[in-house]
Amino acid sequence: MNELKKHVVDIQNEAFALVAKAKTETDLNEIEIRFLGRKSEFNALLKGLKDLSSEERQAVGPLVNAIKQEMIRSFAEARQKMKLASVDWEKDRLDVTAPGVKLPEGHLHILTQVQREIEDIFTSMGFDIASGPEIETEFYNFDALNTPAHHPARDMQDTFYIKSKDGQENLSLRSQTSAVQVRYMEQHTPPFRIIAPGRVFRNEATDTTHEHTFFQFEALMVGEDINVGNLKYVAQEFFSRFFKTEVKIRLRPSYFPFVEPGFEFDISCLSCGGEKGCSACRHNGWLELGGAGMVNQNVFVNAGYERNRYQGLAWGFGLERLAMMKYDIPDIRLFHSGDTRFLSQF
Ligand SMILES: [Zn+2]
Repeated sequence: MNELKKHVVDIQNEAFALVAKAKTETDLNEIEIRFLGRKSEFNALLKGLKDLSSEERQAVGPLVNAIKQEMIRSFAEARQKMKLASVDWEKDRLDVTAPGVKLPEGHLHILTQVQREIEDIFTSMGFDIASGPEIETEFYNFDALNTPAHHPARDMQDTFYIKSKDGQENLSLRSQTSAVQVRYMEQHTPPFRIIAPGRVFRNEATDTTHEHTFFQFEALMVGEDINVGNLKYVAQEFFSRFFKTEVKIRLRPSYFPFVEPGFEFDISCLSCGGEKGCSACRHNGWLELGGAGMVNQNVFVNAGYERNRYQGLAWGFGLERLAMMKYDIPDIRLFHSGDTRFLSQF
């Protein structure tokens, strides 16, 4: 029995000596297989325990098991030592005082920023913000706005119509934020002033100044004593604040079905101030901006108001156009390009 004990201890000593000399993880693996593997002498010894008498087993069993645990522990220790020895402490040192790396951060899209700026200016002048659906009925998009049945704007060439079920009203993607006008008027009694910013859609070829999907904002002021002077004043105030420079307004007579009288709306050139003329304004001192006018009484009647009871003024402007002028953006298609090189500039 003592012989067996001695043999087990010899095996342990031999294993420890080899582990101490091992240089690589591969060496360790080989030694481990040799001493603790399935075909190892030690494993055979363990298996042989069951053939001993119970007295013998009690005498030698605990020792054999303790030695096995010792050996397992020594392999684990040796591996841990090797791992620590392989660390390059200088290279892998964590400098807790080093400045951090800034993670990329998202921000609002340029058009959202511009829309919010416009909303801020108008709300500070007492305007409310209104909205309407992007899929609109022919009534609100055209009929209610006094657009004649055969007006070219209703053409399939210009407007995205949506196939509707039999008997339902013709639906289309709204072609102008003016569609919000009558919706709002049906729910409110003058006086009021609102802007309605939103997305609109036109079935047209795209180029540097045209997009099939873009943003507009409609301004609408209705009351018993609204006149063109209010239009000039509010517009001049808005554009001067938006462009952060004193802007002059010019109205030229024009025709839009929903206003009477109607105007083309120009502002003094932002580059030359309108005095001398420059290439930005084609040397005439003015920049075209959109349409405006006094609300046609037919529109009021369509909204359920009494004819000639109220006067109103309305304008519609393209949000992209204003952003392009303010930030010198050469191509309207950049806004929806998803190009982060463009978007990250704002
Ligand atoms: Zn100019």
